[in-house]
Amino acid sequence: MKFCSVCAHPVALSIPPDDNRPRFVCPQCGTIHYQNPKMVVGSIPVWEREGETRVLLCKRAIEPRHGFWTLPAGFMENDETTADAALRETHEEAGANIILHGLFSLLNVPHVHQVHMFYRATLLDLNYLAGPESLEVSTFSESQIPWDEIAFPTVARTLRFFFEDNKKVGRGEKYGFHAYDIDKSTKE
Ligand code: ZN
Repeated sequence: MKFCSVCAHPVALSIPPDDNRPRFVCPQCGTIHYQNPKMVVGSIPVWEREGETRVLLCKRAIEPRHGFWTLPAGFMENDETTADAALRETHEEAGANIILHGLFSLLNVPHVHQVHMFYRATLLDLNYLAGPESLEVSTFSESQIPWDEIAFPTVARTLRFFFEDNKKVGRGEKYGFHAYDIDKSTKE
């Protein structure tokens, strides 16, 4: 941050009184510009037929990770809930009709100042259509997942958790909730 978003004066990094880390502080109007992690919210759209489980993925048409596959997800907007964000992103990126189930994974990515979360969802039909941020949308069984072309470690890790749980559900257990921390060296 270079300029105060309240008064446009250049800001300076300093530790405010009673605080313990540097903040962007405006020397003109006194505003302290706190910066906090951003929420990235998405869904795991699942298509189950005749004993086969497939998950919808989108091939990214935008940077970062152009051409790599991701679960539909994006930055949460103000004035929406996490469920709203998951539904909206799934519709925008994949044109997919889903119903949401429980929150499935929550992944901290502290080095990029983000928290990612994914809801399980049922894909209601196969009438999906790539939105402007996607080159292609398709469904994949576990063995078809392009593991070497997954855009983000949070997505790869969520897919691993999902297919592990999906096998347990086939044996009568329930889906779990998975919290996980990703650092710079984590591949998934
Ligand atoms: Zn200011």
